[in-house]
Amino acid sequence: MSDQLKDSCINEFDPNALDEVAAIRKIVRSIKPIKNTQKVTIKNAMDRTVAIAIKAASNVPAFRNSAMDGYAVNLKDLSQSNYQMTEVGVSYAGKPYKKRLLKKETVRVMTGAFIPDNSDAVIMKEMVSNDTKVISFSKNIKKNQNIRMIGEDIKKGKTILNKGDKIDFAGLSIISSLGIKTLDVIRKPRICFFSSGDELASIKSKLKTGQIYDSNRYLLHGLLTKLPVDFKDLGVVKDKKDEIVKKLKHAQKFSDIIITTGGVSVGDADYIKEALKEVGSVNFWKIAIKPGRPLAFGKIKDSYFFGLPGNPVSAAITFQLFVVPAINKLLSSKSYKNIIVKAKTKNKLRKKLGRIEYKRAILAYENGNYCVQTTGLQGSNIMTSMLKANSYIRLSENINTVEEDTLVDVIPFETKI
Ligand code: AMP
Ligand code: MG
Repeated sequence: MSDQLKDSCINEFDPNALDEVAAIRKIVRSIKPIKNTQKVTIKNAMDRTVAIAIKAASNVPAFRNSAMDGYAVNLKDLSQSNYQMTEVGVSYAGKPYKKRLLKKETVRVMTGAFIPDNSDAVIMKEMVSNDTKVISFSKNIKKNQNIRMIGEDIKKGKTILNKGDKIDFAGLSIISSLGIKTLDVIRKPRICFFSSGDELASIKSKLKTGQIYDSNRYLLHGLLTKLPVDFKDLGVVKDKKDEIVKKLKHAQKFSDIIITTGGVSVGDADYIKEALKEVGSVNFWKIAIKPGRPLAFGKIKDSYFFGLPGNPVSAAITFQLFVVPAINKLLSSKSYKNIIVKAKTKNKLRKKLGRIEYKRAILAYENGNYCVQTTGLQGSNIMTSMLKANSYIRLSENINTVEEDTLVDVIPFETKI
C-alpha cells in the first residue's frame, strides 16, 4: 500500500476489496473454453470465432498482374536510344493475353490483368505517348514497377487465421479470396439473464409508487446483441429465495453463462446469496472499482454465474470489464487490450483514493490535441452519463484530484467496428 493511501483519511481503501486486474484474471482462469464446433458458410461466419486455423491453399494473387492501366514491357528491349515499341495485344482483367513478348513488343494491360511471363515492368498509361500502335516510353523505368507479385498478399501455406480469431469484414474478404466456402467456428456461447428486485416493473405496466422500470434487461440485451452469442431474457424475479432458486435451476440447463443484476450489494443480497448457496458455488467479491464494487462470480453445475450490481451504470461497466473477457475465454479468443488515449481533461476531476474510477466522458480531437470532458453527474444510477459519453476516463486508485488541462487515460468505447 502506498503511503498516500495509508495516510489519507478520505480514501475508500478496503483491504478486502479485490483488485480489478486480479478479478479478471481469476475469472478468465476458471473458465473452460467451449469445445463444440460448427461448420458455417462464409456468409454466416461474420463475427464468429475460428475453431480450426485456416491455412492458405494457394497464393493471392495467384498470377502476376498489373497494378495499373498501362503497358507491359520487357526492359531488356528498351535501349537508351530507342524507347519505342509496338502494341501487339490487350490483356484485360479476366481476359488474359497469354503469349510471351517478342522483341520490341508491348501489351496494353488493365488493372488486375495477367501480364506476359517475360514482362518485367508496367508503365502507366498516362506516362506514354502513342501514335497508333507505336508506343513511346519515357526513361527511368524500374524493374517490377506496377507489377503485383504472386503471393504478395497471401503466401501459399501460410496460416491466415488462428483458432480464436474473430472473423470480421477483412477476414471474410481474405477467406473468399482463397476460394473457401465453409469454415469451422466455435459454437456460440449461450447466455441468459434475469433481473432481481421487488421494485422492478415491466415496461408494459403503469408504475406504482416506489416501483421503477426494469431497464437492466434492455441494457444487457443491447450489450449482448453486439457479441457473437445466443442469449435469452428470462424476465424478472422477486426478492424471494425460492423463486430465484427455481429460475437459476431452469437457466442452468441451457446456459454457459447466467447473468443477474441486483441484490449483490452488502445487506440486501441475502436472497441471491442464499439461493446461490443452494444451487452452486459462488463468491461474492468487492472489487476496488467505481462504479461497480459488488460482483458475484461462480459456478452452477457447468454454467458460470455473474451477479452484477443493480445500478445500471455499474451493471454496464462490470459487464464490460468482467463478462466480456469471460465470453472471449469461452470462445478461445484473446482478450484484446483496450486502446488508451492520453487526453487533456477540460474539467477538474475529483475522486477518493483507493478505487479505480471510470468516469463517463466525451473524447474529442480539437486543435491538434485530444481532450476529454466528463458527462455531468457521475452517480452509478445516472445512466444519462453513459448515454452522452463515447469513452471512459480511467483514474487509478492512487489518484485523488486531477487539475484541468492535465493528461488522463481515456478508453474510447468503440475501437473497431
Ligand atoms: P441492488 O443492487 O439490488 O441493491 O440495486 C441497486 C440499485 O439499482 C437500486 O436503486 C435498484 O432499484 C436499481 N436496480 C436494480 N435492478 C435494476 C434493474 N433491473 N433496472 C434498473 N434499476 C435497477
Ligand atoms: Mg435490489
